[in-house]
Amino acid sequence: MTLNSIRHSLLLLVLAFLTLEVQASSRINSLRIWPAPDHTRLVFDLSGPVEHRVFSLENPNRLVIDISDVRLNTQLDSSDLTNTPISRVRSAVRNKTDLRVVLDLSQDVQPRSFLLRPNEQYGHRLVVDLVLPEKQKAPKQQAPKTIKQQRQIVIAIDPGHGGEDPGAIGPSGTREKHVVWGISKELASIIEKDPAFKPVMTRTGDYYIGLRKRVEVARNARADLFVSVHADAYRLPQPQGSSVYVLSQRGASSESARWLADSENRADLIGGVEGVLTLGDKDETLAGVLVDLSMTATLSESLKVGSRVLKNLGRVNHLHKRDVEQAGFLVLKSPDMPSMLIEAGFISNPQEEKRLKDLAYQRKLAQQIANAIKDYFIENPPPNTTLSANRSHSSTAYTIRRGDTLSEIARRKGVDIGELRKINGLNNDVIRVGQRLRIPST
Ligand SMILES: [Zn+2]
Repeated sequence: MTLNSIRHSLLLLVLAFLTLEVQASSRINSLRIWPAPDHTRLVFDLSGPVEHRVFSLENPNRLVIDISDVRLNTQLDSSDLTNTPISRVRSAVRNKTDLRVVLDLSQDVQPRSFLLRPNEQYGHRLVVDLVLPEKQKAPKQQAPKTIKQQRQIVIAIDPGHGGEDPGAIGPSGTREKHVVWGISKELASIIEKDPAFKPVMTRTGDYYIGLRKRVEVARNARADLFVSVHADAYRLPQPQGSSVYVLSQRGASSESARWLADSENRADLIGGVEGVLTLGDKDETLAGVLVDLSMTATLSESLKVGSRVLKNLGRVNHLHKRDVEQAGFLVLKSPDMPSMLIEAGFISNPQEEKRLKDLAYQRKLAQQIANAIKDYFIENPPPNTTLSANRSHSSTAYTIRRGDTLSEIARRKGVDIGELRKINGLNNDVIRVGQRLRIPST
């Protein structure tokens, strides 16, 4: 064959390919939408990697997402758009194999998009975040007001996972994010009842926020304690019981702690890329030293409050380990805020899974955690707080037993029932077994 005839047959071969039916090589299998207070996240589940481009159009406001070489394998217009800035989702095929998705918007948004590679739970994903402009964001959680120089003690409650990150999944399909949400909400509502305390939730709905962002929310609220709530999972069904972890400076205290720290930290890969926690404009080396110094003090506080929580959890559940464990969780790495991570139980254990999703049991766990936290702060009140002021005319704690009534307790302790209601933030005389009351000393 001459060179020319080779060229000729190659050309024919190419032409033959071009005239074949054109088929896009990747598919969009589903669209998941997660509204959060300051942004809405769209996750396109893909069968393979894609190229994409996102741009905005005005009058009316629209966002265009062009995805190359992709075929639609789902209904985009049936998505639930409640609490999102999207009023409608449309799509059309372009250039035979490309797809154009148009979002009709009810307000201005700042788009941000990125691709995520497959992980244990999901395949390739295209993530498009619609970030609301600052002024339209939901009001920020306020730092506590100082009343007469006395502030409330702020407890940051961090329900693990959320949104596209379900956390661990139990044998009958229970998702960790739902269990920890239930416990965290209960914990917040118990803590809120005490006027000396103020709970702050790091996430306020079923959406994902990065690990560093969770710490940032707590720091912005000037939290006195950071409590991350999770449920454990293991590859075998037998392990059971609650655990409490605080940060380890020299690596994990046991192999299982290390394994767990890895899987909890891995959540950040599911949610995307996060910025790095900074200490403002401090020099990096100096910042490192400061972190080390303040962390040592914080760690001993974390251990103290953590062991109280563990002991209390032992009243309503098995304990997985008798002592507070130490591991390198990212959410615990806050230099100036005592922090702990609670694994409420093993969602991978079928019996424990059943209990963990039960609201009454979630409430029991929350009550024990709240009691431990309150007791710790009653004994160690930070300066300038309502509790440290109350301490000067000191109070003691009393745990409600079966058959107790508020009026009977008041009589027995020789205190005014109105005073008792006030110091405990009670609106009525309803009390629960296990609830902790502060008794003012007369
Ligand atoms: Zn978790």
